[in-house]
Amino acid sequence: MTSGLRTVASRLDAEDELAWYLNGFIAAPGVSAYLDGNSLGRPLRANWERFVEFTSGPWGTRLIRSWDEEWLQLPFEVGDRIGSLIGAAPGQCVVADSTTVLLYKLAAAALSACDDPGRDEILLDSDNFPTDRYVLEGLAEDRGLQLRFIEPEFDAGVTVEQVRAQVSERTALALFSSVAYRSGYLADMAAISSAVHEAGAVIGWDLSHSVGVVKTELDSAGADFAVGCTYKYLNGGPGSPAFGYLASRHHDRWQQPIWGWMGRRDPFTMGPGYQPADGLRSLLSGTPPILAMLPLIVSLDLIEMAGLPAIRSKSLALTDFVLSCVDELLVPHGVAVRSPREASRRGGHITVQRKGFREINGRLWECGVICDYREPQCLRLGPSPLSTTFGEVLTAVEAIAEELVDYR
Ligand SMILES: *Cc1c(COP(=O)(O)O)cnc(C)c1O
Repeated sequence: MTSGLRTVASRLDAEDELAWYLNGFIAAPGVSAYLDGNSLGRPLRANWERFVEFTSGPWGTRLIRSWDEEWLQLPFEVGDRIGSLIGAAPGQCVVADSTTVLLYKLAAAALSACDDPGRDEILLDSDNFPTDRYVLEGLAEDRGLQLRFIEPEFDAGVTVEQVRAQVSERTALALFSSVAYRSGYLADMAAISSAVHEAGAVIGWDLSHSVGVVKTELDSAGADFAVGCTYKYLNGGPGSPAFGYLASRHHDRWQQPIWGWMGRRDPFTMGPGYQPADGLRSLLSGTPPILAMLPLIVSLDLIEMAGLPAIRSKSLALTDFVLSCVDELLVPHGVAVRSPREASRRGGHITVQRKGFREINGRLWECGVICDYREPQCLRLGPSPLSTTFGEVLTAVEAIAEELVDYR
């Protein structure tokens, strides 16, 4: 029944200009399809070598001298490399903490910088990733602010019309995700940022589901700040440090709330009292997670070599193929596509929905077909352009279809 799709998959894999990169990833015996690169990217083989080199070199031999020689700069150097993937000029991105913590720090800094007491609302959407909603809820409670929720369509995300309807002279801060974690909807960052600015508020973006797969233009959109994680399409490994972006116009004006020694001016004087370091360094709190950045660095080497335009075009080809497979093999079983079909509004993954998917996903995991389950009854199919083949996409969709044959 699927031989036509198998022929297409083989042709697309044979023509894939990024196929060379597949070998860079560690093979997972027993896994016939991994469509969860949008949740945890696969590790690169070169990680081993990099850990060995690091342990014997900068750590083992240069010892504490490495802080001066390279490590104190690393959060900013790696930050700039991520910056070039998200349209940020150098000097505005830092690698530190986790997404949750960096979001707290930047959103708190934004609220503290707002000197208009009439601005007592934070604008967000009910479909944003839970941590984003919870962090803002905590900040609102602390500061006596109200949360105003936009309710996006289930299979879409926040639109500029919705933002225009809700943003006002009471808004202090708005925060959205550029790619919605459930539907994969790609928001119109430039239009939404302008709408928020026209109302006199600041705009923050969570790029966790877009960095490394969708080209983002933070500077030209006029974003005030952004955060994102590095273990999804950036393959940084479980719990790898996050990145934060702060537009240079806010440097030396916004102050984040976790005053640690690494964000202080002249930290090694160990002096009395906290004074923020100049510029972006004041976003740091404690010692940067140098060791935890190694897999991220290895992965950035590869992403830069492949180039984001080629990665995005393979990502779109992969999600186009996901849609073809789903339409042919799953829709007849009552499965609904809950992601945008237009390429211009599509992030890196496709979400499908049907009763029974929770249970089916458990069985698929046992037989080495790995998708991602999200409530309510949704499977996210998240191919990662450098590590996923078209053949794998078909294998996963065929496995889901087989499960559905007997499922009522
Ligand atoms: C994955 C993700 C996070 C993760 O936050 P952590 O602090 O790393 O747990 C945050 N926001 C969004 C939108 C995400 O997709």
